[in-house]
Amino acid sequence: MARVMLLAMRNLVRIVLPLVLVAFLIPSIRAQPATSIAWTPDILFTGSPCLFRVNSPSLTGVTGTWQGHELSFFQEPKDPDSWYSLAGVDVGAKSGSYELTIELIQQSGTKTIRRTIDVAPAPYKEIPLTVPQKFVEPSEQEQKIIVADQQVKRRIFARSANSPLWTGSFSPPLKSAPRTDSFGTRRIFNGSLVSVHRGLDYRAKVGTPVRAANSARVLLARPLFYEGNCVILDHGLGLMTIYMHLSEFKVREGELVRRGQMIALSGETGRATGPHLHLSVRWQGEYLDPAKLFSLNVPRPVQP
Ligand SMILES: [Zn+2]
Repeated sequence: MARVMLLAMRNLVRIVLPLVLVAFLIPSIRAQPATSIAWTPDILFTGSPCLFRVNSPSLTGVTGTWQGHELSFFQEPKDPDSWYSLAGVDVGAKSGSYELTIELIQQSGTKTIRRTIDVAPAPYKEIPLTVPQKFVEPSEQEQKIIVADQQVKRRIFARSANSPLWTGSFSPPLKSAPRTDSFGTRRIFNGSLVSVHRGLDYRAKVGTPVRAANSARVLLARPLFYEGNCVILDHGLGLMTIYMHLSEFKVREGELVRRGQMIALSGETGRATGPHLHLSVRWQGEYLDPAKLFSLNVPRPVQP
């Protein structure tokens, strides 16, 4: 009799207990849909652009904050569970740990997820340069032009479209290789003025065709004091590309351009130390390494 009882107990443990456990676990799995948060590149440096990806089923929206910026998320046509945001870390940011906050918007309410992301220091160099003295000590008249330029740029920079205009990954504006070490260098002009080089320089003979890094709206195509003939393209969601020292414009302000479309010819206007193209990538006021943006795999957004 005792043996029968023992067998019955064993069967209870072997068969009934797992069933009870499964019955408890399944509802909790259903209530907690798997959410993953990832970013590329895996390791962020000062000056890195960055693509955040949130994957979670049945969301109605995603928002977030990163280093004091609001993140705007977009989706690609093939994957309704993935949400992306193109962001970055300024070239002049301090290295260290930063918090990424993501808000998942669901029918039932909003859920907040936090991640800590390390930003490593990039090894930027210091180089001396010589330019005409007016660019180091501008005259009173030139200072007026510089102040007017700053107002124009402030207005332009505040006008980014609130949906993405890009159509996939970004591509270089010229076929020639950039001077890869030119981004982020601390430059000492004429032995005194120090400024961080917030773009990438391409060697280019005057008159070389310059192409749009991605689809965009032309926000600015006019001469400025330091930038020379300058084109600013708005790719939406706070992301812009800036082309400087041009010799000739091939687009007008307000025009829409496609990736690869010729927008200008390169030159040496403004504060240039010789013929070259200077390209800057600006996201919500932060300056990012263009070369790193070109190596990011950026999804083509759903057309609104
Ligand atoms: Zn430059």
